[in-house]
Amino acid sequence: MSDLPAPPAVGCRTAPVLRERGQREVFCGLTGIIWLHRKMQDAFFLVVGSRTCAHLLQSAAGVMIFAEPRFGTAILEETDLAGMADAQDELDREVARLLERRPDIRQLFLVGSCPSEVIKIDLSKAAERLSAAHAPHVRVLNYSGSGIETTFTEGEDACLAAMVPALEATEARELVIVGALPDVVEDQALSLLAAMGIGPVRCLPARRAAEDPAVGPNTVYALTQPFLGATHEALSRRGARHIPAPMPFGEEGTTRWLRAVADEFDVPDDVFERVTAAPRDRARRAVAAQAETLRGRSLFLFPDSQLEPPLARFLTRECGMTAIEVGSPFLHRDVIGPDLDLLAEGPVISEGQDVDLQLERCRAARPDLTVCGLGLANPLEAEGMTTKWAIELVFTPVHFYEQAGDLAGLFARPMRRKQALGLEAAE
Ligand code: SF4
Repeated sequence: MSDLPAPPAVGCRTAPVLRERGQREVFCGLTGIIWLHRKMQDAFFLVVGSRTCAHLLQSAAGVMIFAEPRFGTAILEETDLAGMADAQDELDREVARLLERRPDIRQLFLVGSCPSEVIKIDLSKAAERLSAAHAPHVRVLNYSGSGIETTFTEGEDACLAAMVPALEATEARELVIVGALPDVVEDQALSLLAAMGIGPVRCLPARRAAEDPAVGPNTVYALTQPFLGATHEALSRRGARHIPAPMPFGEEGTTRWLRAVADEFDVPDDVFERVTAAPRDRARRAVAAQAETLRGRSLFLFPDSQLEPPLARFLTRECGMTAIEVGSPFLHRDVIGPDLDLLAEGPVISEGQDVDLQLERCRAARPDLTVCGLGLANPLEAEGMTTKWAIELVFTPVHFYEQAGDLAGLFARPMRRKQALGLEAAE
């Protein structure tokens, strides 16, 4: 750790926050089903929603579905919406048909949507009833992926938070890594922790329902995503203790995350250095190669994924960028406090959105790189700005050492493309 750059004299944890509550430009929480269903291999996600919801899922999932998908939409028809049919009876029939056809399913998530919330279908009652009917083979849980007042990463948070009360109780001292990481990334983290002698380690969510962690007063947990505020609260309510740490993005973030966990388990410094030295070196070199394009450039982050504060920390400290504005839909200080401590004072820290006002600030600042949602990227590109779609950050493996270079590359690529097209000089 000695060779990590020192934290800034004044970080952004206590910086004034520009709070905005206007029109927002974000995807809804159903999007999370795409990465959650890949992670949880015996789960099915049944959206109770409209044709719009079904279309969103299909287009987000892409066209290459080789196996039978493990998500679907129970479409609410006009009769349901008008209250002319008993949606609960229909749901029971739909679920019974599904589970009969798919005996591999062990966890079923009923996912609420804008239409199901507007007509107030009680999915928690449905989940309780269906769990009783299909236990012990299948556990039925519910959460909301609705786009009313939510952002797209909150879908994962709501899903994991819904799982926590159903986890078995334990008195064992165990570490739980929280967040749906791609298997290959999770394996890298597990092998680093194992090499330091840390264990037993469990993951939430696990790849299969039978491997889900138990939780109790001796459980400690580390979050791998900054958007897991509700899951963090649910785990605390079960008596588990949070290990605060910067998110494991980049060489520094990963080292500080691992160090916080290692300290909890009293790992000696020499063991920590021995296990992390080689992957740290690889990460540093991989980031440095990409940082050549990013160094000295300015950055504006629109609020989209809640990943913005840790990304700003990574891009300023490891890639040499200057942050002008760091927006986030929500600022959970318990969760992202350690990242804000490392982010030097200077950028506007904004929470929530009033998209027109924020666009005005962005246009006035003319940043070299703007990180934003799909809906804003195209218009800003048309105005000559260089953009990065925030949603790619949740579909691409970006955590821990071996992905640090790829993470920096995600931001360097649009800048290089612009340079290659000679557009930058023309602006
Ligand atoms: S949940 Fe709401 S925002 Fe999301 S696709 Fe369905 S209707 Fe649209």
